[in-house]
Amino acid sequence: MDPFSRHIDYLRISVTDRCNERCLYCMPVNYPGWTQRNDHLTADEIVSIVACAADHGFRKFRLTGGEPLVRHDIVEIARRIWDLPGVQALGISTNGIRLADLALPLKQAGARSINISLDTLDPAAYQKLTGGRLQAALDGIAAAAAANFEIVKLNCVLLRGINDEQIIPLVEFGAARGMPVRFIELMPLAPGGPINDNHFFSIAEAMARLAAHDQLDPASEQAVGHGPARYFRLRHSGALVGFIGSITCADFCATCNKLRLTADGKLRPCLGRHGEIDLLPALRSNTIAASGLPQAIHQAISNKPESHTFAGGFQVRRPMPAIGG
Ligand code: SAM
Ligand code: SF4
Repeated sequence: MDPFSRHIDYLRISVTDRCNERCLYCMPVNYPGWTQRNDHLTADEIVSIVACAADHGFRKFRLTGGEPLVRHDIVEIARRIWDLPGVQALGISTNGIRLADLALPLKQAGARSINISLDTLDPAAYQKLTGGRLQAALDGIAAAAAANFEIVKLNCVLLRGINDEQIIPLVEFGAARGMPVRFIELMPLAPGGPINDNHFFSIAEAMARLAAHDQLDPASEQAVGHGPARYFRLRHSGALVGFIGSITCADFCATCNKLRLTADGKLRPCLGRHGEIDLLPALRSNTIAASGLPQAIHQAISNKPESHTFAGGFQVRRPMPAIGG
């Protein structure tokens, strides 16, 4: 339990800050990534941290980034995590670009759920927003469907004037494939770039758009993972839709169950607060006892703040791909 009686049993692991896309709301312009590869955790180090977290009662793990599928050893990392005692759920968050090749190997390695970013179905808009090719992401989504993951979810960051007209087409696209679409409020994590507060589009507005189209009935979230989304089912189409109101939902943090591990080995209790605990000394120094890791995990849980500070003029020190989304 953390100081606010939340049960923390979910670790999101950024395996790299590198990415093969350049989403305007996430990746700062000219972001160089780590210049020293030594700053990235090795597969062995990631597995050691996960093993320790599982000993500490963590049960759910997600590989993210940056784009986790650009890491050459991602399938090995997934398999080794899944083989650890105590690991009950392993998910992956991806832009889908490399998924056509990797969906089946990742499923066979033990991944249970996959979240795929899909902000628009318009190829030109997709290219403009992400720098990537929509067809590659669609091929990845098809491969995920064919690989029979237990859960495949589609993630869309809501952006006024850029993709808010895509809300209904995306829900229909997901419903046709049995994939819930989750709409995410824009967080201020890429300042100075072309996406700013003027593009913010709340989940309340997204729900109103959908409610004008079909009736939204509350649905149990348990069926679709461990994340912060609230789910609704559209009465006529049967589509399942999730809403992640990180900015406008007053009680958003009340059910937070996670810690983040950055690609360079820091445990971060909250995406929207700067505090981190560096695990590298415990991992890489021969002089620090292995017990440094459990202590660091315990400390990170104790340091978990009650809520994020995005609304209070949050100043970005590390961009999203460097923290792990
Ligand atoms: N590359 C993978 C992907 O795109 O799904 C995994 C990493 S990405 C950082 C994880 C999630 O964070 C994606 O769903 C992405 O849309 C979301 N994200 C990135 N920047 C965001 C922002 N500024 N506000 C809200 N969500 C954001
Ligand atoms: Fe890359 Fe994912 Fe960030 Fe887009 S959201 S730039 S795909 S890490």
